[in-house]
Amino acid sequence: MEIITLKEAFDIVMRSATFTGTETVDFTDSLGRVLASDIKSDIDMPPFNKATVDGFACRRDDLHSELAIVETIAAGIKPLYNISENQCSRIMTGAVLPEGADVVFMVEDSKVNDGKVRFTGSFTKDNIALIGEDIKDGQTVLRSGKVIKPQDIALIALSGNTSVKVSRRPSAGVISSGNELVEPSSLKPGIAQIRNTNSYQLMAQLKRAGAIGKNYGIARDDEAATYEIVMRAISENDIVLISGGVSMGDFDFIPAVMERAGVKILFSRINVQPGKPTTFGVHPDALVFGLPGNPVSSFIQFELLVRPMISRMMGYEFKPVTFPAIMKNSFSRKNAERHALIPVMITENGLADPVEYHGSAHLSAMSEADGIIEMPAGERTIMEGETVSVRQI
Ligand code: AMP
Ligand code: MG
Repeated sequence: MEIITLKEAFDIVMRSATFTGTETVDFTDSLGRVLASDIKSDIDMPPFNKATVDGFACRRDDLHSELAIVETIAAGIKPLYNISENQCSRIMTGAVLPEGADVVFMVEDSKVNDGKVRFTGSFTKDNIALIGEDIKDGQTVLRSGKVIKPQDIALIALSGNTSVKVSRRPSAGVISSGNELVEPSSLKPGIAQIRNTNSYQLMAQLKRAGAIGKNYGIARDDEAATYEIVMRAISENDIVLISGGVSMGDFDFIPAVMERAGVKILFSRINVQPGKPTTFGVHPDALVFGLPGNPVSSFIQFELLVRPMISRMMGYEFKPVTFPAIMKNSFSRKNAERHALIPVMITENGLADPVEYHGSAHLSAMSEADGIIEMPAGERTIMEGETVSVRQI
């Protein structure tokens, strides 16, 4: 199969993403979910004309007269009296403004004497929040397709909705393949063994992307056994991520297993560094990725391809956070054949500095990185002082 560009791979993946459908959840469980219907308020907000300070409610015309205090209005009670000439009510923040009053002056600007009060300031704002000035009854306060933030939960509570329709989170099966792999919970790896890090990194990336990860553990380099696990994961999930076994080695039979399992492979080589052997295909039951075994490649290809696909499946477009930064030093590479993604850290002075990076298996490099920068195919050097666009990871 021919090698394609990262842009082409991205487009193929995004075109294949199918909507996961919706479900209804209690609004207290909706943080981070994608809203799947508009939220309308069933009340005005504020629901009544409201005092915004502790003070005295009266007519602005009477501000410079001595005022008789007719009652005290606490928050949560209805005023008993209307305000007429040279009268006022003592009022608390959040309480209902009495009829007739058009200003509330602050306690700090008052002098009370014998049941009467005087305004001692020279000017006061109205200090009234008008009914419906923030939100009108029936108004749409949140639109379908947005990721719910804590502030949105407040809006949902305010609007009288206790359950909300959200996109279903896609489920994703994670399989690591390789005879050399041992689980972190096992004894120290023996000679020729490597700890399985990809499964856990991918599970964490899935969680961050809003999907539900399911770990199927390690598949040995045995075609029949791998086929069993892949089939099971396909039937039980919307997405399957298989790490390892996609390169050109003698035991790299994941693409063959994918095909045997009924996956139509749409690409198996991307002109990108790292992550060239990234393979992707579609099955009627699941979208299937064969990710490179190298942890850095697996991490980056997930961020570039899988994460936006998960977002699209939930009905919103993932926008990576990017920001400009100036290169601390020049950076160059010998082989400029592929489109490169270079992990960088941001120095204390805000400069971009490629992290020391020994290759696709160098996990601590990724841990230090704040972002990645792109270097298109054919480009060999980025100069010191040049401005680059950093994509946060
Ligand atoms: P592969 O893609 O299977 O050829 O693997 C490439 C490299 O990544 C090899 O050095 C593997 O040992 C390593 N590798 C493969 N799978 C994992 C994994 N799940 N966790 C950590 N390293 C892995
Ligand atoms: Mg392998």
